[in-house]
Amino acid sequence: MNIVLLGPPGAGKGTQGERIARHFGIPKLATGDVLRAAVREGTQQGLRAKAYMDRGDLVPDEVILGIMKEALARPEAAKGVVLDGVVRTVPQAEGLERVLGELGRRVDAVLMFDVDEDELVRRISGRMVCEGCQTPYTGLDASARCAKCGGTLVRRKDDEPEAVRNRMRTYREQTAPVVEWYRRRGDGASGGADGLRGPRFITIDAAGPVEEITQRVLHELAR
Ligand code: AMP
Repeated sequence: MNIVLLGPPGAGKGTQGERIARHFGIPKLATGDVLRAAVREGTQQGLRAKAYMDRGDLVPDEVILGIMKEALARPEAAKGVVLDGVVRTVPQAEGLERVLGELGRRVDAVLMFDVDEDELVRRISGRMVCEGCQTPYTGLDASARCAKCGGTLVRRKDDEPEAVRNRMRTYREQTAPVVEWYRRRGDGASGGADGLRGPRFITIDAAGPVEEITQRVLHELAR
């Protein structure tokens, strides 16, 4: 089961992606996590990506395609993968289709997390992440510790108001077209390169308690 998670920053893709991956016993791939790890390790890729990320801009497609290719070919991803924030431009969506196609696989479902913008801003302004294991938290103060590893909680640089505004704009300009791209294919209106119908397109109401949203997702995926 290969599942693509779409939705604006703060929609809960990370939190829900973790839960969906656990439910199906498959890994979650989040390009944001891979890039942040590269920045921490000071690799060439990390140094290149950092400036884009700090501003809230998208890193170039070829960087993302490289990450996708490597991660999807790993044996632990053979049963499927949850892709969190991995597809943010139409060329990335096309690239993913190609990479999966070469492995004899395809995207099975696309989950679009729908939340209104006021709620997104509220969530992001209260968001902290563990410096160590990157677990996200909302509504905790900076003196709290990570429940998983005891690490220090910090605010992501791109969760500062200026960068958040830019990420929202980037989402509207570059990622909203991806939503439409998948929606059309999911409707079966136009097939993929092989003429087959695209993945199922599912819109999730992503407002409300975390567990309730997970149940909505699993219910939809089981249909
Ligand atoms: P996230 O943790 O998903 O919010 O991603 C953090 C940042 O990493 C984004 O604001 C982008 O700068 C970069 N990034 C992550 N995934 C992608 C992607 N698929 N395409 C382009 N940039 C990305």
